[in-house]
Amino acid sequence: MSLSALQNLLLVLVLLLLHFGVLIGSQPGWWDNQKHATKPTLPSHLRHNILNHLSRALSRLRLSGHNLNVELLRQQQHRVPYELRICTRCNWHCVQDEEHVLLDCPSADLANLRVKHRQLFRSPSRNLNRLRDFISQADTKGLALYVHECLEYCA
Ligand SMILES: [Zn+2]
Repeated sequence: MSLSALQNLLLVLVLLLLHFGVLIGSQPGWWDNQKHATKPTLPSHLRHNILNHLSRALSRLRLSGHNLNVELLRQQQHRVPYELRICTRCNWHCVQDEEHVLLDCPSADLANLRVKHRQLFRSPSRNLNRLRDFISQADTKGLALYVHECLEYCA
């Protein structure tokens, strides 16, 4: 690096110091504050007193660790294309994913589960991310039981 390039670099650093006062990250405790500001919080189902197997069902749903065809056929040695991972519980010929099983599948058993847990469906979401709204509802224990029963049915 030539002397003039080094002088230019120092000039830029001095100008940055003058402009911003202190370089980002050079204040004591700045990194700790950033760490605390971005500290993740536990999902609500892990903060409530829910039976382990029900809590596990919600975690499996959120982490795609379930046995629905959308994941099961993705993890095979010869990965099945997404659009061919269809539901085997109904004849709609659509992908068996979380949203289909929990909210839409017309299978009689899943429809019966929706009737049994009808308190979860009182305020259906109108926006595009229906699944996120559904699994974010306040009745975490009821939701966990419903998800557990749905995943058991589709296992
Ligand atoms: Zn279906």
